[in-house]
Amino acid sequence: MSATILNGKAFAGRLQERVAEHVAGLKTQGVVPGLAVVLVGEDPASEIYVRNKGIATKAAGMNSYEHKMPAETSEADLLAKVEELNADPAVHGILVQLPLPKHIDDTKVINAIRPEKDVDGFHILNVGRLATGQAAMVSCTPLGCLLLLRDHLGSLSGLEAVVIGRSNIVGKPMAQLLLGESCTVTIAHSRTKDLAGVVRRADIVVAAVGRPEMVPGDWIKPGATVIDVGINRIPAPEKGEGKTRIVGDVAFDSASQVAGAITPVPGGVGPLTIACLLANTVTAACRAHGLPEPE
Ligand code: NDP
Repeated sequence: MSATILNGKAFAGRLQERVAEHVAGLKTQGVVPGLAVVLVGEDPASEIYVRNKGIATKAAGMNSYEHKMPAETSEADLLAKVEELNADPAVHGILVQLPLPKHIDDTKVINAIRPEKDVDGFHILNVGRLATGQAAMVSCTPLGCLLLLRDHLGSLSGLEAVVIGRSNIVGKPMAQLLLGESCTVTIAHSRTKDLAGVVRRADIVVAAVGRPEMVPGDWIKPGATVIDVGINRIPAPEKGEGKTRIVGDVAFDSASQVAGAITPVPGGVGPLTIACLLANTVTAACRAHGLPEPE
């Protein structure tokens, strides 16, 4: 059997088109959604993420505000920047790029963002709202995974879902979202006993671990839907000396022989994260102006 490849890139493209249409509609009502991204320091990966977010924001017709601050920025100065953005009515979404330099308490900074502008969904109030089924800003990567699952499977009700990984940014919110869809959810982590046996029960597997190809095909229940969140860079000597390539947490070649559907890496979950960030910003702008939210 060969799995359906879930093309996250194409799905994200359609989502971004819908966002752009909604933005165009908002503009006729005098509202231009604005996303502010704050980057502290010069981490090269973070710089690329921030640049890509800015490009996508502008491509959707929204305003993008980039705030680059030096690595030695104090926590107080960063908190003051967040306050400035909280008070700015042109800014509907605020994203502070993580990781922050070690001398800054990232929890304190995230919780200083006004919850209604917290488009990353990391603020304690949004986490609590999600956990209690109230309207929340939902963390972008898990939200993207959920939209893709719904698009492929329709109703998720009653399905066995196993989320591997319990981080605050992926694993836990993913599990909450799946619970909200009436899945029977298991969260696995590094202390889980018989992980293979746990994963074999799953109709839906979401792998968010950060270990290259750790989930082999023989852990996958035939026909299961597999969402691979992992982004791992490994050596690729076949491409030349010192070259690398990106793989997920799932061994794609063997898993795609067994699964019913699977996301590739790259081109699966990755593109959905930015699309959901834009969607969250539009939602925040609609809520700020009391306008109908996109579906
Ligand atoms: P974290 O390192 O914060 O969490 C990893 C989780 O995996 C932990 O809960 C850990 O368990 C668990 N884990 C580690 N080893 C094992 C093991 N051997 N068996 C079972 N569970 C294990 O990672 P993130 O959640 O931040 O990210 C996960 C992956 O997703 C990374 O590859 C990251 O790059 C990628 N990612 C991709 C995004 C995208 O846009 N596509 C966005 C965000 C992340 P424990 O808690 O017990 O330590």
